[in-house]
Amino acid sequence: MTRWGSQVQSLLRPPRTDRQPSEAFSAFAKRGMPCPPDPPISPPQSDHFDGRRFRNPGTSSRSGGLLAVLKWQMRRDRVRWPDSIVDPRYNPPPEPNSPRDIVATYIGHSTFLLRLGGLTILTDPIFSLRCSPVSWAGPKRVRPPGLALADLPPIDLILLSHNHYDHMDLPSLRALRSRGDTVVVTTLGNGPRLRRLGFTRVEALDWWGSTQIGDARVTATPARHFAARTLWDRNRTLWSGFMIEAAERRLLFAGDSGAGGHWAEIGKRLGPPDLALLPIGAYEPRWMMAPVHMNPHEAVQAHQALGAQRSIGMHFGTFRLTDEAVDAPVQTLSVALKAAAIEPSQFSTLGFGQSMVAIKDDAD
Ligand SMILES: [Zn+2]
Repeated sequence: MTRWGSQVQSLLRPPRTDRQPSEAFSAFAKRGMPCPPDPPISPPQSDHFDGRRFRNPGTSSRSGGLLAVLKWQMRRDRVRWPDSIVDPRYNPPPEPNSPRDIVATYIGHSTFLLRLGGLTILTDPIFSLRCSPVSWAGPKRVRPPGLALADLPPIDLILLSHNHYDHMDLPSLRALRSRGDTVVVTTLGNGPRLRRLGFTRVEALDWWGSTQIGDARVTATPARHFAARTLWDRNRTLWSGFMIEAAERRLLFAGDSGAGGHWAEIGKRLGPPDLALLPIGAYEPRWMMAPVHMNPHEAVQAHQALGAQRSIGMHFGTFRLTDEAVDAPVQTLSVALKAAAIEPSQFSTLGFGQSMVAIKDDAD
């Protein structure tokens, strides 16, 4: 079969039934051993699963308005993005002084390198030129990753929030797998695809489900979003954020999300995060994006509703996915912070490749 043929085949292949998280997982993951396969299951029906597809609570799992989307694709007033942006060179990520420090390095889009509690964590890793089912078309990055994949330190844990191409990038995951059989924590439905890439230590969680990875507890948190990799698999897999609790710290990686009451619920159920990584980009036009992507004003409201001590913005300035200008998310964030009387240091963004000791051990 030609390369194109095999790509089409992989797009058309229906997702397989996912497997339920295993209680034995943590013990195996801790010892660095492959996880034993679990029997296939379907998750129980819930406010976000109708027995076949996932949904945002209070909405239908089916999307309407395909015609409106096509019209938007064809008619939208294209704000130009530069073809390429040269960023300053930053120092390599610093070693944390204490396991209680949270050190964040922004690689780009929703990819962060994080250090907390002795763990090195990578979020929604994308290092590819494009976020697309094919390598020759689709949104192209306007700046290189702030840290090259080859320069990453050994990774203990990959967090994968959902299956969109700009978050679940198979070439990046393949390259990471070739470096080692890292533990991957993701959402219901994404396990089989990751196992096919060769990852054996995969935990696919439902919202509020959690797992122990070393000394860290990872809990999948609700989000308002959707999932799809083809025209036929819409919402057959789940989307989420993740709260990592380690060394008496809480770190929220929010994934992709629209606004909603879930932020307050996350803060209430799991406790306010010391650091929240919140999406601030890909929000125009609002009539279409508001249900799935927050704008910076909503991100500031999320920061407040969570009770986060500090937040860092993400999901901007890398791939042109929507209608706002490349620098609009960062500029609008500063307007939104001013309007909410929040110090800019409490909710900031990092340069691409820039690191920050976002939370310091008091004893440092
Ligand atoms: Zn998405």
